[in-house]
Formats: sequence, structure tokens, C-alpha cells
Amino acid sequence: MTHSRIRSPEGAPSGYITSLSVADDGRPRRLAVLGATGSIGVSALRVAAEHPDRYVVVALAGATNVALLAEQAAAFRPRALAVLDAARAKALRALLPAGYAPDILTGPEGYAAMAGAADVDVVVSAIVGAAGLGPTLAAVAAGKVVALANKESLVLAGDLIRETAAATGAVILPVDSEHNALFQALGGPGLPDLPLVEKLVLTASGGPFRRKPREELDRATPAMALDHPTWSMGPKISVDSATLMNKGLEVIEACRLYGLPVAMVDVVVHPQSIVHSLAQLHDGSLLAHLGPADMRVAIAYCLGYPARLPLSVSRVDLVTLGSLTFEAPREADFPCLGLARRALEAGPSHTVVLNAANEAAVALFLAGRLPFMGIPLAIAAALDAHAGQPVPDAATIMDLDARVRRETAAWAEVRA
Ligand code: NDP
Ligand code: MG
Repeated sequence: MTHSRIRSPEGAPSGYITSLSVADDGRPRRLAVLGATGSIGVSALRVAAEHPDRYVVVALAGATNVALLAEQAAAFRPRALAVLDAARAKALRALLPAGYAPDILTGPEGYAAMAGAADVDVVVSAIVGAAGLGPTLAAVAAGKVVALANKESLVLAGDLIRETAAATGAVILPVDSEHNALFQALGGPGLPDLPLVEKLVLTASGGPFRRKPREELDRATPAMALDHPTWSMGPKISVDSATLMNKGLEVIEACRLYGLPVAMVDVVVHPQSIVHSLAQLHDGSLLAHLGPADMRVAIAYCLGYPARLPLSVSRVDLVTLGSLTFEAPREADFPCLGLARRALEAGPSHTVVLNAANEAAVALFLAGRLPFMGIPLAIAAALDAHAGQPVPDAATIMDLDARVRRETAAWAEVRA
């Protein structure tokens, strides 16, 4: 597989998704799946397993779940595996079938090496949180096709990723269902004809608390927050979905993917999660993508592009569904959406602060050390305390990320 990237027309806003051609030379695509043991990783491997003639899994990375990684490794026999540390590497080795001895890499350097390895065509970037930035940047620096689930990378380092991709020819295909939907609705990965696009409309399920009165949100428990009505996802993004921070991160993701100002990206709540997003054009048309609430559709689109391979997901039965409904998000009760817009407008270091405070606050909430409505308070406190700073490289970004996490933990301690 080869790919080449054609620059956006002179003067066009600099989104990453410029015209793109991915030539299919008939060879199976060699995949590296990072975050293989998570919700997206498992779905990606199900897609790969459905088309063994088209995909070869050459590398798999997990972090702590060595039992699942060992099972996946036994099924796909990749030449390289990666886990969080040496102790887990040892535990993993002991679980592998006799006669199969892959390289086992460890830690951030191991993940980055895997993402940039010469024998990889497509990197599925599906590590959760800021830990996904290093491997995503390594894949972009190596000029890979990147099926990007780790939206936090774009929130932390949008400029850096765009500049690096422009230099290396890396191609970023969004796995996130809303952005993938826009990508499909706008006719593939060519730069949307921006003068025709009035705005992008991201749909949100509304999460488990869509209809909960404000007073009940104060008493929301982790179990309630994790009980998502339409999507099955990992714990961090499930909580983000309950606070609407997930949609806030996705507004930032959309602005950075398409090079658009925040005023051109709207959010509408659509509880059925069938319309995955829409683009409104200057003649009033709305171009939408509809499909089942199953991430394999978006993943398969990225892995197969430009081919659309058959997929054994459930089909949407419109008559059974009956109606599709839309409503405005309750922004006053779910302040995270507004906080994300505020950070985006304030500057690139503010989105690093937003993301770090959110990750720290979500972890505290899941550990029972912060109430649900403490999450937006923690993020607002972190943004209030931040004056802005240059964030020219990954090391500066990760230093700021670590500092804000410490400060958020200290803030929560004082508050408790
Ligand atoms: P999960 O929590 O299900 O999985 C996270 C994965 O990341 C696991 O493989 C985990 O390994 C690994 N991991 C965790 N910490 C580290 C670390 N420090 N270093 C390396 N690997 C690590 O998350 P999801 O699959 O739900 O989400 C993954 C990403 O995709 C997120 O960025 C999310 O926002 C995005 N996304 C997810 C969607 C979904 O439907 N789930 C939809 C759209 C976007 P282990 O379990 O072995 O410890
Ligand atoms: Mg999404």
C-alpha cells in the first residue's frame, strides 16, 4: 500500500484532511493496533478478523491487561507486542503459546517505536488519554496512515500534529464516529469545499444523564455515569460522555481536523445515535451519515480506505426505529461543553490544561474522591489559574499536562 498527500489549495484553511490518495497495490495492509485491549482496539481486531486476506496484524500494544493481549497475540501472531513495563512483559511472555516468540516492547518508547516501525502501513491509535500522544506523533512523524481514535492527541497537540503530517505526508483518518461521519458525508477525505460549508453539526447521544434534573447530577455515581445508553466504550470516554466533555473534546477535534473556527461547529443532542453528524451547506442542504451505533463501521472505513469492505454489523431498521429526534444540549447543567469552547478560543496551551484537568478529575470521580459535578469545577479552576504559555513541542506539552494533573489532585484534596 502506498499513499500520497496533495496539499490544500493556496489560501485554504489548514485542516489535515486535504486531498488524499491511497493507492491499493493489492498487498494486505499491515496493521499496528495500539490500545488493542480496549474497546476500540477489540473492535479494530474484529474488523481485521473479518478480512484476513486484506489485513495482517503485525503489532499489538496493550498496557495492563496481559491476559487479553496474550489471547489476541495467539490469534493474530503479530511479530511485535508492547505493554506498560518489564514486569508485564514477563507475565505476557509466560502466557504466549509455545514456539511463538514475538518482540515484546515496553513503555512509552516501546509504543512509539511500534507506531513508527518500517513494516507497518496503518496505525490504529486507540490508547486512551494523553498517553496516546507520543505514539500518535511517532506514527505521524513516520508518515503512516493513522486511524486516529485518540482524540486527546489533537486536543493536546493539534498544531504539532498538523505541521508534522504536512512534512511527512502522514494521513490522518478520524475514527471518532462524528468526524468519521463528516469525512464520509463530505465525500471522502478531500478538503471539504469550505466556502460551501456553513457549519458542521456534531451529534451527541446526551449520555446517561440527558434527562436527569440538575439536583440529581450532584448525586451521580460512577456506576450511573458508566451506564451509557447507546455506545459501549471504555470508562474514561463514558464519563466524558456523561459530562458532555466528550462533545467538548470533539468540537476541538473537529476545528483542528478541518481548520475551522469554533463558531462553525455546532452540537445537537440526538439520543438514538443513528445520525453520526452532519454538514450544513450554503444552499441549506444537510449532508449526514447514518448507521448503527457500532464503532466497527468507522474503524472499517479507515482501515479499508478507499475501499469499503463488507461488514457484519447490525443494520439500522428505520421502521422499527420509527423516529429520529434532536434537541439542544443543556449547556448550563453540563458546563464541560462550554469550558471546551472557552479553552479552544483561549489558545493551544489552554486545551492542554482542559484535557489534563479533565483526565485527573475523571480519575478522581471514578475513585470516589470527587462528585460528578466536581469535574467541571475542577476544569474551570484549572483554566482560571492558567495564563497561557507556548507549547512548541511534545515535552513541553507533557510537562504542562503533568503539572495540571498534580494541581487538580491538590485542588480536589483541599475541596474534600
Ligand atoms: P479503553 O479504556 O477501553 O481502552 C484503553 C486502551 O489504552 C487499553 O488498551 C489500555 O490498555 C490502553 N492504555 C491505557 N493506559 C495506557 C498507557 N498509559 N499507555 C499505553 N496504553 C494504555 O478506551 P477506549 O477504547 O474506549 O478509547 C480509546 C481511545 O479512543 C480514547 O482516546 C477515546 O476517546 C477514543 N474513542 C473511543 C470510542 C469508543 O467507542 N470506545 C469512540 C471514539 C473515540 P490495558 O487495558 O491493557 O491497560
Ligand atoms: Mg465520538
